[in-house]
Formats: sequence, structure tokens, C-alpha cells
Amino acid sequence: MSVRRWERHWSITIRWDRAEHSPWRTTKYQTVVATAAELRRLVEAARADRHVTAFPYEPVRVLVGEEPTHCPAGHVYEHDRRVAGRLLHRWAACHCGGHTVLVCDQPGCPAPQLYDPPVDIDCEPMGPA
Ligand SMILES: [Zn+2]
Ligand SMILES: [Zn+2]
Repeated sequence: MSVRRWERHWSITIRWDRAEHSPWRTTKYQTVVATAAELRRLVEAARADRHVTAFPYEPVRVLVGEEPTHCPAGHVYEHDRRVAGRLLHRWAACHCGGHTVLVCDQPGCPAPQLYDPPVDIDCEPMGPA
């Protein structure tokens, strides 16, 4: 089973002053690349092209992997279960894309809360709402 994680891809839009200056023969070309190396290649090409007027890019995130089925102590999660009308799983906003907070309701569980995807070294999850 693979741990869940956010994968960062980049969306980039390249604009030319005139369509005939673009290899795509349009003034606008938009694409998504999966690696920083591909993005860098596009950005460097855009910078070197004096007919390019703008090349904004932004990270887009894709959640990959499987949702945990057990807490670290081995208790089965009951997904979508509500206690007193409240969903057991909550959401912690984070600049990485966010984490589901999985709550184990076994009394005395040593790991009652688990962040999915796991909190990374540069994560700063907000308290679950
Ligand atoms: Zn547990
Ligand atoms: Zn995070």
C-alpha cells in the first residue's frame, strides 16, 4: 500500500505578441507538466524568446495513493462515520494542499489522530476545523 501524498504539477500559460511567432501558431499555449525540470525548460525557452509577452505558471496539486484503512495502532477506521452529527474525519488546511485528519475512536488509542497525507517537514497544518 502506498502512502498518500500530494504530487505537484505545474500549469503554465505562454503568450506571444503574434501568433506567427509561436511554434503553435497561436498567441496562447497552455499546458501542464509533471516535473520541475520540464517547467524550467519551458520557462527558459519563454525567457529566451523576445516575442513571448508573458508566461505565468502556478502549481497544481494531485492527490495520489491510497487512503489509510487502519490507524497506526491497527484499529480499523470507520470512514464517513458520524458521532453526534459530526464527521469523524476532518480537514486541516495546509500550504501543501491540505490534510484529512483521520480520527480513531478506539478508547485509549495511542494514535487517535492521523494526518493523511502525512505531515511533511515543511507542512504547517491549521488546526482541524
Ligand atoms: Zn487506533
Ligand atoms: Zn501539509
